[in-house]
Amino acid sequence: VTRIYGPVLTELTLLPELLYQQIAIGRMRRLMEEPTMEGDTDVALKDYTIQFDKVDFRYNKEGEAAIKEMSVTIPADSITALVGPSGSGKSTVSRLVARFWDVNAGTITIGGRDVKTIDPEELMGYMSFVFQDVVLFNDTIYNNIRIGNINATHDEIMAAAEAACCDEFVLNLPQGYDTLLGENGSTLSGGERQRLSIARALLKDAPIVLLDEATASLDPENEALIQRAISRLIAGKTVIVIAHRLRTITEADRIIVMNEGRVAEQGRHEELITRNGLYHRLFSIQQESLGWSV
Ligand code: ADP
Ligand code: MG
Repeated sequence: VTRIYGPVLTELTLLPELLYQQIAIGRMRRLMEEPTMEGDTDVALKDYTIQFDKVDFRYNKEGEAAIKEMSVTIPADSITALVGPSGSGKSTVSRLVARFWDVNAGTITIGGRDVKTIDPEELMGYMSFVFQDVVLFNDTIYNNIRIGNINATHDEIMAAAEAACCDEFVLNLPQGYDTLLGENGSTLSGGERQRLSIARALLKDAPIVLLDEATASLDPENEALIQRAISRLIAGKTVIVIAHRLRTITEADRIIVMNEGRVAEQGRHEELITRNGLYHRLFSIQQESLGWSV
């Protein structure tokens, strides 16, 4: 199997997924060496509540902190939407949970365990990522989905693909799921790539889902299919969604409004609208530019 890492490695936003791929590949190798190995569950987390306690984080020693004294609880088994102006720290928060970087001060815990004490491979096992820049390999569509769980059966792979609304485009391709993707899936549209990554995440079935919604609007058909695929992915999970779509935001169990690396406000949509603060302002601006209506 050919895997192309080259040019994408420079894209920092892709690294969490790459890490996940590398772990998957490592796991595959080990399984081949030790075919009898069973999953060890001695330290498995049971509670997926994510807690930030006075977290400071800076990308560079000289630069300004991207996250400042952030304390927040992301409840388990519910949907938390991160909203806020561009550069306010939303993507940084989601990547810190995956311990892509370590915090400079404070702690991030999952189920009470400091993420710094969780083995990276174990930590990755708890999470699925659906980011805007999906890493796809120069391989078949089938194998690109399968990487979500290399132990999955054929039926499980096909069920995930169907649930993620991949049949809608894959079955129109002459080779179907055996179609070879070009480098980083360049032969697919953005919406198709996203559905493929949702299929991968569905197959992985991790308890925590980190989702970065696309800012660019897709055509209505893609939009509807992605919405349906995402609903299936996040059902019953602990979800952090960097939300741009009005529907995701208004339906979230909790909205965390970020501003300049801090939590400006939090609550449900109605509460935040009533408060008449930053959320209300952002909401009014976006309502005009995106044509949102409640
Ligand atoms: P958002 O997702 O809300 O737009 P980010 O979390 O991407 O915000 O960014 C928060 C801050 O950190 C911004 O000032 C941004 O310029 C900075 N930043 C983000 N990623 C990096 C990086 N890889 N290196 C240095 N600075 C970064
Ligand atoms: Mg971002």
